[in-house]
Amino acid sequence: MTAIGIDLGTTNSCVAVFRNGKVEVIANDLQGNRVTPSYVSFTRGERLVGEAAKGELTENCENTLYQIKRLIGRTYDDPSVQADMKLWGFTVINDDNKPKIPVNSSLGNIFCPEQISAMVLEEMKKTAEVFLAETVTDAVITIPAYFNDAQRKATHDAGVIAGLNVIGMINEPTAAAVAYGLDTESENERNVLIFDLGGGTFDVTIVKIKGRKFDVIATGGDTHLGGEDFNNKLMEYFVSVFKQQHGADISDNKTALNRLRVECEEVKRKLSTSDRIKVQVYALQGERDFGSEISRAKFEDLNRIFFDKVLDTVKNTLSDSGIKKENIDDVVLVGGSTRIPKIRKMLEKYFDNMNLKRTINPDEAVAYGAALYASSLGSVEDPALKEFALEDVIPLSIGIENHDGTMGFDIPRNTKIPTKLWHTRHTIVDNQKEMLLEIFEGERTLTKDNHFLGEFTISGIPPAPRKKGRVKVLLEINACGILHVRAIEKITGNSSEITIARDKGRLSESEIKRMIQEAEEYRKRDQELKQRSGARNELEDYAYSVKEEVRQKNHTEPQRESIMSKVTEILQWLDINQTEPPEMSELEAKKGELEKLVK
Ligand code: ADP
Ligand code: MG
Repeated sequence: MTAIGIDLGTTNSCVAVFRNGKVEVIANDLQGNRVTPSYVSFTRGERLVGEAAKGELTENCENTLYQIKRLIGRTYDDPSVQADMKLWGFTVINDDNKPKIPVNSSLGNIFCPEQISAMVLEEMKKTAEVFLAETVTDAVITIPAYFNDAQRKATHDAGVIAGLNVIGMINEPTAAAVAYGLDTESENERNVLIFDLGGGTFDVTIVKIKGRKFDVIATGGDTHLGGEDFNNKLMEYFVSVFKQQHGADISDNKTALNRLRVECEEVKRKLSTSDRIKVQVYALQGERDFGSEISRAKFEDLNRIFFDKVLDTVKNTLSDSGIKKENIDDVVLVGGSTRIPKIRKMLEKYFDNMNLKRTINPDEAVAYGAALYASSLGSVEDPALKEFALEDVIPLSIGIENHDGTMGFDIPRNTKIPTKLWHTRHTIVDNQKEMLLEIFEGERTLTKDNHFLGEFTISGIPPAPRKKGRVKVLLEINACGILHVRAIEKITGNSSEITIARDKGRLSESEIKRMIQEAEEYRKRDQELKQRSGARNELEDYAYSVKEEVRQKNHTEPQRESIMSKVTEILQWLDINQTEPPEMSELEAKKGELEKLVK
C-alpha cells in the first residue's frame, strides 16, 4: 500500500507521495494548488476545509478556524495561547485547562485542536486518494523540530482521528534536509544548515549529509515565531493608525480584525518585492474607511525583535553543534517567510555572503522529504531508496526530578533517537516503600521552570536503609520522538510504567476513540449532505423543466393550474431551505408528487 507524506503546517499543508522512482507533490482537486490552507470553516450546515474555508474568513468570522497548530498540545493558560486568542476571530474556551473551540454548526459544537487538525489531515488524505485512485491510510506527518512531547503526541492523535495509520513522524527541517540531500546527492560529507521559517514556527537544524546518510547534529528554534507574528505586528500598527485617524478602537471588533488580517497578509507579501505600498480597507468599521501607507523599512522596524531572535537562534544552534559557521557548506531556505528580503540579507551577511540555496521549493520541501521517508518505512522496496539512513535528535532534555527539586538531565537535548537509557535511582529515607517519578523536559536547573510531562509511582519496594533501596528506570524515546518510561524494582521484579500520552492535557484512548467515531460521523454526514444537495439541484432542475414544458404542451386549464401551483410550491419550498438541503425522503416525496401530476 502506498504511504504518503503530509506537511501539516500552521498556515499551509502539503501532501506528497513517492512512486515510480520519484516524488510527486500532489495538487488539490478543487483549485489545483500544491499547498492547501490549513483552514476549517463551518458554514451553512457544511464543513469546508482549505481554500474554500479561507474564503469564509471575513464573512463567517466566528466559525472559521485557522492557526490551530498554535493551540495543539498546549494548555489554555499557556501565555502564547492567551496572547493569540486576542487576535483570532474565533473563540477559545477553557475546558479543564485544555483549549477548546466552540462553533455554531449543526455538525458539532465544541472541538478540540486535535479534531480540527484531523479535518485538515483528512483533506490531505483525500487529495492523495483522488490522485492515486486508491485508499490511503499509511502516512508520515511532519512536526517542527522544536515541538515538545505534548505537541508531538497531540499531532499524532490528530492523525489517528483522521483515520490515518501514522507510520512515522519526522521533524520538518530534517524532512527538508532529506529533500535537499537526495536532490543534490554527493559522496562528500557536507554540513548543511536548514533554515525553516514558516507561518507559525521557526526551526534551525544542522545536518551532516553524506550520500544518503543524514545525521542531525543539532536543532534549535521557536515553536511560536513565524509569518503570522509579522502579520500581527502589522495589525497592531494599523489598529493604532486607525485610532489616530478616527479616534476609534477596533481591537475588540473581530470582523474588522479579520478583514485587517487578510489585508496585512497581502501587504506583507507585497513588501517582499516593493519598497512602499498603499493600504486600503473600505468600511473597516461601520462607514469608516481605512487608508494608509507603509514602507518596507517600517515593516522591518516593527518586526526587529523577531528578526533578531531568528539570528540569535541560528548562532545558538551552531554553537550547540560545535560546527563553526565557516564550516557550513550550504544554507537551505524553507518556509514561505524566507521570501522576506530582510531575512535573506541577514543570513547572507552572517554567513559572509554565502549563496543561500534556493534549489528546492520552500513550500514543498518538507512534504517532499516526508514522502521519501514514508516510502522508506513502507513495505514497498524501491531501489531508489536503498541505503537511506536517517538519524534525528530530541530537541529538549528529558529527565526525572531529583529529590531536591532539580532536574536530572537523563537524556540531554540533541541526543540521537531512537534512544534507550537505563539508570538506577535510590531511596531517600529508611524503609521507603514507594517512589514517585516525575518526568520533565527542558533546559532549566529547577524542574519548576521546565515542562512537566507526567508522573507515576512504583510501589512494593522491600524494606531497606536509605540509599540501599534501588529502582531501575528505563527511559525510551521511539523514532517518532515519543517518550515511554518504565521503572522496575530489582528484588521483587515489580514494575510500573507511564504512557505520557495518557497524562493530563492530552487525549486518553477513549477520547481518541470517541473522536474517531465522530470524525466517521462527519464523513458520513458530509457525504449525505452532498447526496442531498445533488437531489435538491435535481428537483429544482426538474421543476423548472416542467414549468417550461407546461407552457408548450396542450394541457387543460385546470391541469395547467394544478401543475403550476405545485411547481411554485416546490420552488418556494426549496428557497426556504437554502441554508441546508432538505432530507432525501422529503425531496423524493416532492418529486413524486410533481411527477404524478405531470403524468
Ligand atoms: P507553515 O509551514 O507554517 O504553514 P509556510 O511555510 O507555508 O508556513 O509559510 C507561510 C507563511 O509564509 C505565511 O505567514 C505567509 O505570509 C508567508 N509568506 C508567503 N509568501 C511570502 C512573501 N512573498 N513574503 C513574505 N511572507 C510570505
Ligand atoms: Mg512549514
